[in-house]
Amino acid sequence: MSGLVVAIDGPAGTGKSSVSRGLARGLGARFLDTGAMYRMVTLAVLRAGIDPSDTEAVAECAATAQLSVGYDPDQSSFYLAGVDVSSAIRGDDVTQAVSAVSAIPSVRARLVALQRAMAEGSGSIVVEGRDIGTVVFPDAPVKIFLTATAETRARRRNAQNVAAGLTDDYDAVLADVLRRDHLDSTRTVAPLRAAADAIVVDTSNMTEAEVIARLQELVTQRSEALS
Ligand code: C5P
Repeated sequence: MSGLVVAIDGPAGTGKSSVSRGLARGLGARFLDTGAMYRMVTLAVLRAGIDPSDTEAVAECAATAQLSVGYDPDQSSFYLAGVDVSSAIRGDDVTQAVSAVSAIPSVRARLVALQRAMAEGSGSIVVEGRDIGTVVFPDAPVKIFLTATAETRARRRNAQNVAAGLTDDYDAVLADVLRRDHLDSTRTVAPLRAAADAIVVDTSNMTEAEVIARLQELVTQRSEALS
């Protein structure tokens, strides 16, 4: 397989990130986590002391933020102005503010342009996010939209938090999942939705390994059809 863009979209908590990494690893492809890029810009905004609802100031900060993002599915590499921010971008403050920042059109325009540039070059790439199949790569040969019930997603996120030594609070996680779903799917620019030609995979009753195997099968079928 060479030079395929695999677009993987879906809401938080569908297992999208681990599954996309696993798929990229299995295919020997590069991996791009676009959610992390929106988180990096959000962190830059917060660190600059800017109010995330101040659209103009956020846009200005986003235009100049120096992002460096790695492609290795086994090794996250996120640098903001030369500083490793892989842990900081997962903080609660960033998670709370990221939907507001990512709803700003000029922020999206800059990151979409960066994402397109990053996907160029040799070899395949698995790109995961919210608008990859609809906006960033509308011509991607493989488009997958992962779903799962809000309760399943909240349960998974809460289990991850507990495993990471954070608070065990299912209700708060469920509220956050529902809040972000609402914000991400109702914003005017690039709302979260499946592309018309995406294959929808409901992961509610599937293990991570089953989802990866299913996606691998879909990619193989597609590359055979294209060759
Ligand atoms: O994937 P993750 O949960 O880290 O994404 C964080 C946030 O970034 C999402 O809630 C969404 O607001 C935004 N996002 C986006 N478009 C993408 C990826 C993420 O708007 N392609």
